[in-house]
Amino acid sequence: MNVATLAAQADLYQWDGITRLPETANQTSNSMLITDHIHQCASDFVCSHLGGLYDHEDPKFHAANVIEKTPARTRRAIYKRFVYCELHYTHQDSDIQAKLQLRGLPLADDAVPWMHQHFRFMSSRLQPNYRNIQFDLLFNSLSTDRRYRHVSGTSKQAVHACYLCGLEDDSIGHLFTGACLVVVQARRAYSNHVNIDLSPAVLHGADFHHSS
Ligand SMILES: [Zn+2]
Repeated sequence: MNVATLAAQADLYQWDGITRLPETANQTSNSMLITDHIHQCASDFVCSHLGGLYDHEDPKFHAANVIEKTPARTRRAIYKRFVYCELHYTHQDSDIQAKLQLRGLPLADDAVPWMHQHFRFMSSRLQPNYRNIQFDLLFNSLSTDRRYRHVSGTSKQAVHACYLCGLEDDSIGHLFTGACLVVVQARRAYSNHVNIDLSPAVLHGADFHHSS
C-alpha cells in the first residue's frame, strides 16, 4: 500500500488553506493505528505539495484542487503530484538552458519551452527506455563505461570498446557523434521507419551530436 493510497483516504480539507505545516506534523509516531497512518500520509502529501510550489504560485494548499470525483482518481492525482514534487527541480529551465549552451547549441529564448513542448508530444504509451535515453542524453547522464571510469577507477586506456561495434570506446563521444556505424545504421533505419528525416541539416543541428 503506498502513501498516495492512504493519503487519499484522509479528509484533506483539514489542511485547506495552510501555507506550512505545524512543527508537530514532523514528529514521528509509533502508532500502528491505520487512522494515524492515513493522517501522517496526508500530512506528508501536503508538505510535499507545498514544497513543490514555485514562487509565483499560490502558496496555499487547496484541497479542492486535489480531490477528484472518485477515490481512485483522487489517489491518482495525489500520486502524480507526489512524483512531480519529488522530481521537479526549481531551477530546471535555467539548468536545461545552461546544458544546451554547454553543447554549443544555438539558443533562442523559446528553446526550452519548445523542448518541453517537444517532449509533451511523446506518447504516454512510449516504452520508458526510449524516454529515458532521451533525458539521459539531454542531461548528460548516459551511463557509459567511459563515464563510469571515474567511479570504477579504470584508466582511460582500459575503457571497454563500444559494445555495439567493437571499435573505439563505450562513450557518448563515440555513440552519438556519428562514429559508431551501428548507431548510424540504427538511426537511418528508424528515420526510414517513421518517415522523418533526422539528418543534422534538416534538424538544424551543427552536427550528428547536436541533432541527437
Ligand atoms: Zn560503436
